[in-house]
Amino acid sequence: TPTSRVDRLLSSMGYGSRTEMARMAKAGGILLDGADLLDVTKRIPVTRDLPSRMQIDGEPLDPVVGMVILLNKPLGMTCSHKEDGPLVHDILPRRWKLRDPAISTIGRLDKQTTGLLLLTDDGDLLHRVISPKRHVKKTYRARLARPLAGSEGALFASGTLMLEGEHKPLAPAELEVVSDTEALLSVTEGRYHQVRRMFAATGNHVDDLHRERLGGLSLPEDLAPGQWKLLSEDELALIF
Ligand code: URA
Repeated sequence: TPTSRVDRLLSSMGYGSRTEMARMAKAGGILLDGADLLDVTKRIPVTRDLPSRMQIDGEPLDPVVGMVILLNKPLGMTCSHKEDGPLVHDILPRRWKLRDPAISTIGRLDKQTTGLLLLTDDGDLLHRVISPKRHVKKTYRARLARPLAGSEGALFASGTLMLEGEHKPLAPAELEVVSDTEALLSVTEGRYHQVRRMFAATGNHVDDLHRERLGGLSLPEDLAPGQWKLLSEDELALIF
């Protein structure tokens, strides 16, 4: 288990500077296993159970490094500074913006796409999920402007569909028709606006796009748009 000085740990978690942490401790604001922790230069093991053992100003410590956040992304929010509009990071506690390592989205959803989005401060995990070699299935529910023609499933499954401006055909993808104008599409790649462009290539148009699943992990039905929760190890294992 890695160890860390308490002041460094709390500072890297966005609670404030090391000086501020020393001041907070002196004022009785930091408890470890129920007792006042006064010396913030003390080294402690950084274990996952720390949030249940440490309190900061009467609140449990935030999750330690290695957290995974499952968010139901609302419409109109963006995953990147490069796009205009409020960032999905703004939904999370403000202090978390100061965390080091930083919290990043695992892949991206368009501003106009809703649904399952993961964020993490674990770079290895991020790469494992987005690596094309792993073929993690991403399942989207698409509402279409026009009725399906009937040939889309075969085309998407063929592994020959070439998107405009690209040089490599798309890997096979699975289409499950829900109704005339609604379908579930599972892809293993994450090309720019991929699902919208796939339907555009068939002469259709995606009106609403919602991600429901990542591997075997589904967006919980009771998680409203804009709500988030921390993923357990068991839930995380469902992705792979
Ligand atoms: N495909 C898209 O077109 N948009 C997304 O947000 C995700 C997949």
